[in-house]
Amino acid sequence: MSLIIENVHLAPVAGPEIAGGWLRIEGDRIAGLGPGPAPDAPGAERLDGTGCLATPGLVNTHHHLYQWASQGLAQDATLFEWLVALYRVWAAMDAEIVRGASAAGLGWLALSGCTTSSDHHYLFPKGRGDLFAAGIEAAREVGLRFHPARGSMDRGESRGGLPPDEVVEDLDEILDATAEAVDAYHDPSPSSMLRVAVAPCSPFSASGELMTQSAALARDKGVRLHTHLAETVDEDEHCLEQFGLRPVDYMDKLGWLGPDVWLAHAVHLSDADIAKLAVTGTGAAHCPSSNGRLGAGVARVSEMLRRGVNVGLGVDGSASSELTPLAGEMRQALLFQRARYGPRALTARQALELATLGGARNLGREGELGTLEPGKLADVALWRVDGPYTAAVADPVCALVFGPALPLVRLLVGGRTVVADGELRTASQDALGRAGAEAGRRLLERAEQRGVTVKVGMS
Ligand SMILES: [Zn+2]
Repeated sequence: MSLIIENVHLAPVAGPEIAGGWLRIEGDRIAGLGPGPAPDAPGAERLDGTGCLATPGLVNTHHHLYQWASQGLAQDATLFEWLVALYRVWAAMDAEIVRGASAAGLGWLALSGCTTSSDHHYLFPKGRGDLFAAGIEAAREVGLRFHPARGSMDRGESRGGLPPDEVVEDLDEILDATAEAVDAYHDPSPSSMLRVAVAPCSPFSASGELMTQSAALARDKGVRLHTHLAETVDEDEHCLEQFGLRPVDYMDKLGWLGPDVWLAHAVHLSDADIAKLAVTGTGAAHCPSSNGRLGAGVARVSEMLRRGVNVGLGVDGSASSELTPLAGEMRQALLFQRARYGPRALTARQALELATLGGARNLGREGELGTLEPGKLADVALWRVDGPYTAAVADPVCALVFGPALPLVRLLVGGRTVVADGELRTASQDALGRAGAEAGRRLLERAEQRGVTVKVGMS
């Protein structure tokens, strides 16, 4: 496979932008890029990128794909209220629901320029099929690079945790299942389409022992660690009350800060917390839409960047952000920072870097993904910027970040076309949408059969 995109505005994230340049792809790699007319390449497909912007494919570093099946519920709830309302709904899920929800969620991500997505799955009701494999099957169907995290919870209500006991697992079961997931699926090769992470859910649903043993397991197997942290004031209070420490200090004590860890949210950080993340090389997945939806707060992203903390973006589960496309999170991130810290808090190009290189770093793949450079994997998004709503915007990167959702002319994952002319080419978009809707219907029906009342509002 050999492809040249010509006459295109290139925003490589690493190195200067090129207005009117070319990008050459050979096999699953970027072979070259430059200004002016494209060099001769006999036999290569040539794609005219006039009116288009090429960026690295976007990287989503926090998600719960199964939540596609539980959107629009507990709309006015805090995080803890929302979780308490939804844990019992999620307890009704099975592999078929996860498969349909994941396929719909991944298809939607592809259409918003995402080429690599993580997924944090942390509820494994017994006897409902292989839920972890269901997400992987969906990613294979849609064709995205996938980083599923084997999540877990062992600290139910009876042990002072937030989730009901019916949705947590035993420590030993978790560790066995996690090791099995890594052994079965993790591919460490540079062009890997599938890497597994280890991800106890949060300080208020995972015990300290689960955290420390998970870290030991991940480090033994050479895989990354992920969890939710410092998302809300309620979590701060819970950690102080239960552990006598705030969340970042608690994680530090458990050996959970380091260059192999990335934390979802990281909203409520002190100056000292930010310094700890910077010095240990711990990354953060910023999820502005979800933080806004749940009223969790605004993460100190510009401050983190200034002080050397790596930050990537995440859409978080669809149940706390209702269908947000990944490209939209760049805009949300930029607007949140500017609304709070002023117009120079985050630039359009910094927002693009969060969504690409920042995400690649969170997943430990900055050597292979996140920029357009020769030798890197050919994960590329080609956006149309000369459409009716953006043609008058002077700067294509501004159009992408500040403007409306841009149509994708092409989305390549390892050189393979996943989206062309705004349509998914690996799977039927309509079929994925129907599978997602059916997963939602089936989950709520099964939850109601189990006597769970599903709340739409909160009061
Ligand atoms: Zn989350």
